[in-house]
Amino acid sequence: MLDFLGTRQRTHTCGELRAADADRTVTLMGWVNRRRDHGNLIFLDLRDRYGITQIVLDKDLSPTGHAKAEQARPEYVIAATGKVRLRGADAVNPKMATGEIEIAATELLILNDSKVPPFSPAEDAIANEEVRLKYRYLDLRRPEMQHNFEVRHKVALAVREYLSGQGFYEIETPFMTRSTPEGARDYLVPSRVHPAHFYALPQSPQLFKQILMISGLDKYFQIVRCFRDEDLRADRQPEFTQIDLEMTFPQQDTIFAVVEGFMAAAFNAVGITLPIPFPRITYDEAMRNYGIDKPDLRLPGLTDIRTAFTAEQLETLGVDPSLPVVAVRVPKVGELSRKERDDNRPLFETKKGAKLLDDLKRLEKAFPESVGKLRALANGEADDLLVIVAGDSAHHIAASDTKLAGRLSEREIAVLSAAGNLRVELAKKYADRHGAFAATEAVVGAPERAISLVDGTAAFRPLWVTDFPMFEHDVETGRWAPAHHPFTSPHEEDMDRLESDPASVRARYYDLAMNGLELGSGSIRIHRQDVQRHIFRALGMSEEEAKERFGFFLEALQYGTPPHGGIALGLDRLVMILAGAQSLREVIAFPKTAKAIDLMVDAPTLVSEQQLKELHIRPALRS
Ligand code: ASP
Repeated sequence: MLDFLGTRQRTHTCGELRAADADRTVTLMGWVNRRRDHGNLIFLDLRDRYGITQIVLDKDLSPTGHAKAEQARPEYVIAATGKVRLRGADAVNPKMATGEIEIAATELLILNDSKVPPFSPAEDAIANEEVRLKYRYLDLRRPEMQHNFEVRHKVALAVREYLSGQGFYEIETPFMTRSTPEGARDYLVPSRVHPAHFYALPQSPQLFKQILMISGLDKYFQIVRCFRDEDLRADRQPEFTQIDLEMTFPQQDTIFAVVEGFMAAAFNAVGITLPIPFPRITYDEAMRNYGIDKPDLRLPGLTDIRTAFTAEQLETLGVDPSLPVVAVRVPKVGELSRKERDDNRPLFETKKGAKLLDDLKRLEKAFPESVGKLRALANGEADDLLVIVAGDSAHHIAASDTKLAGRLSEREIAVLSAAGNLRVELAKKYADRHGAFAATEAVVGAPERAISLVDGTAAFRPLWVTDFPMFEHDVETGRWAPAHHPFTSPHEEDMDRLESDPASVRARYYDLAMNGLELGSGSIRIHRQDVQRHIFRALGMSEEEAKERFGFFLEALQYGTPPHGGIALGLDRLVMILAGAQSLREVIAFPKTAKAIDLMVDAPTLVSEQQLKELHIRPALRS
């Protein structure tokens, strides 16, 4: 029989009581985490969001309460009233915040029972992820998940407070709108009222926030959901949340200062000091030094080791001397066996015109002096893993060799990125050996951080990457495609080369990277409609197409558009870093699987014929 709550009120949470509360009469409510039956004494660990408190039911003290406790099972909902009592010295549990006390219950109510759960929120061993997602309400009861949402809440709140303090207004923009190009497929919503017409869910509020600047709102932000239909990975979800902002009359530095301010506030909110300002490098430097545009600074970069070899040696090795020759170094991994090297081969991308020389011992036999030089150049210690990545003279990819204004050519970028990706993969694989991620794990794993701020200098390595190229050459179509959304401004000095020499044009575009993840990107925007038309044209978009897709925006640009710029940061990714989570699904309450399914509510679903009819849709297929 279940009990009624009556007028009883919870006096404390399950994480609150300490030795100083001894002798108080309290009422706690929560879920049975574990139950231990010692005959006349039954122990219930009662759990809520705040912690766990031990409740003792003594048959002599409360025969009815004891009888109830006999019925209680894991995940039953309980109300316990009784006195706070100090535990005996041998029963104190230093691992629990409430471990000095217990409640000697005089009344126990069973407010609700529970089916035997498919997995126990009390267990550390984590169930299969599909089961967790199907029974998400049970999964979210786990302390680890509750912690993740505490982090998420604190981070979002700190960002809001900071931006509000800087004069930003939070303004909502529509979800049912038209396509915003961010490089993904749109989610579409059919219109009932207008047959064959669709709204698109926004890939971002990009054009709305720019229009808010045209409207003179000066500083906008929004913690906003964005929708992108793309292939999913651990760090992607079909709907995700951005910290989106836009300002009028900014320089790039103005935006960086705002972001650094709210990032420091967000980290501070979870007990970590994040030093500002963040370091900056250009895209070209990032590619040259790390082979990737979101470098993880916790690991050594690439080293240019071309000078270690003579031209003849490079030729013998089948290396293209006109392309980069770099060493990838992963500390403390040690020499790899032949089998290990073979196992690592799939980590290297062969389609980028690059080749991997991973048997340094053999190379050393042939060219001892060169390998000695290489080790010196790469600052290698004896137990470091060193491999060489270089252009493959036998395998040229279809890419441009054009190298303007001292920038990297596409072919060079391809080789460097093969090296950069290998560096990341090897670092992931040998994390236990090089230990470069340990500082981060120590900080995110530190409990009760907020009491004393932890120094996040070594654990979190933010980095601004600037001056991205404006266009990417699409080998398949032969067209220049925007490397970012097409509202990104080129550098003023590069403007006259937009059509004559697109490869050399730099964008006023920037990314914020941290620990190898891209946290956000933004740009100074185009504010002149003549330049905007020019860009559309440079992208191969006809006047009609531009008008059809962005007519409203080109129109708006004509009414006194101020210079403006902004950025958007992924809130989910930021929380993932701060919670030490391995996947976005750990920090989104109701996420979707890699197949874009919500396993709990079972969406997407088929809909009735009637609904389809109203929407003027006749499906070609039925699964
Ligand atoms: N709208 C861009 C994005 O979602 C960010 C920006 O340019 O502000 O990536």
